[in-house]
Amino acid sequence: MQRVTALYLAVVTALAILPQSWSHEPVTRARTPIRLPDLPGYVTLKGDFHIHTVFSDGLVWPTVRADEAWREGLDAIAITDHIEYQPHKADVSTNHNRAYDIARGAGVELDLLVVRGSEITRAMPPGHLNAIFLTNSAALAVEGWADAIGAAHAQGAFIFWNHPGWEAQITNGIVRWYPEHTALLERGQLHGIEVANGRSYYPEAHRWALEKGLTMISNSDIHNALNLDYHVHAGDHRPLTLVFARERSADALHEALFARRTVVYTGDRLIGEARFLAPLFSAATRILRPQIQVRGTGQVQVQIHNDSDVDFRLERAGEVAELTCPSSLTLAAGRTVLMAVRGRNAAEPGTRKVRLPYLVANLLVGPDQPLEVTLDLEVTILPAAR
Ligand SMILES: [Zn+2]
Ligand SMILES: [Zn+2]
Repeated sequence: MQRVTALYLAVVTALAILPQSWSHEPVTRARTPIRLPDLPGYVTLKGDFHIHTVFSDGLVWPTVRADEAWREGLDAIAITDHIEYQPHKADVSTNHNRAYDIARGAGVELDLLVVRGSEITRAMPPGHLNAIFLTNSAALAVEGWADAIGAAHAQGAFIFWNHPGWEAQITNGIVRWYPEHTALLERGQLHGIEVANGRSYYPEAHRWALEKGLTMISNSDIHNALNLDYHVHAGDHRPLTLVFARERSADALHEALFARRTVVYTGDRLIGEARFLAPLFSAATRILRPQIQVRGTGQVQVQIHNDSDVDFRLERAGEVAELTCPSSLTLAAGRTVLMAVRGRNAAEPGTRKVRLPYLVANLLVGPDQPLEVTLDLEVTILPAAR
């Protein structure tokens, strides 16, 4: 009897000290949505259009790429194995269409858009270019680079220049635009450019995108298993291209890429044209009670909510007659923060709209050019206390 009691106590004690998760299945196949708002008339698709698998120099099977993307909250991926570089060819098929064909089934199962692509892998110039929305990758396996790009173009592909600032393909640290790129542009065979690739941002590519009317693209160019390079469960994310599409479909994605409706999302930065960044900021943020009353130099705490995954780092860009406001303020991702404003003694009594001017340091409309925004309040200035 005593032995049974002792055994019972041992079991109860063991259960008590086991971790909570012991009785639950760990949630491994779960998707974490990326919180970035849709824009008026468009859905915001999150895409990575530069991904490698074992079918070139990647270390991952194609279906795993679909799983990784789904879990991270992406809507679309392109598998873009190198045409000209297949270091695993002794072990894996050299069929250039095979990686896509395998990943596509996983994409259908997960409701993830998987796009057929390839990386045309040449010396500089023109360097490496991705062609996506291909119909047959094998047609790109030809000798001359111009013929390879021509073959992609003939299939209606969206073609972009990869990692223009990659150290291995630049000399003396200078990122160059070559006459070959001009020729491609003039032939209608260059549509986009990677402004960011992996952890790198290329200000030159950013400038060229604006000057030459190229779609801004940002991709992981991932070769490893995603979790080896990005701590996605600790707030990290792979670089993404946000695509503002009319609907969540491959056709709409294709149309939006050609129409240059993209924003680059890399680290805590969003890079793109003001016509997208401004509504994105507006849709993501909300002043909970924009009507305030101030008397004299009295202080009011304004609450601002940020419904997105991005911290918005605000820097004051000017002064207004009615109020003083903080010189810098971070609207933390997913949180409501306080902004202390104070009245100015000299302000005339009455009610009016006041727009507090700020720059968003991590939203770039050009290299070193932050987005201008205003925080809009309706301010009632009360007469000074008697
Ligand atoms: Zn490359
Ligand atoms: Zn690559």
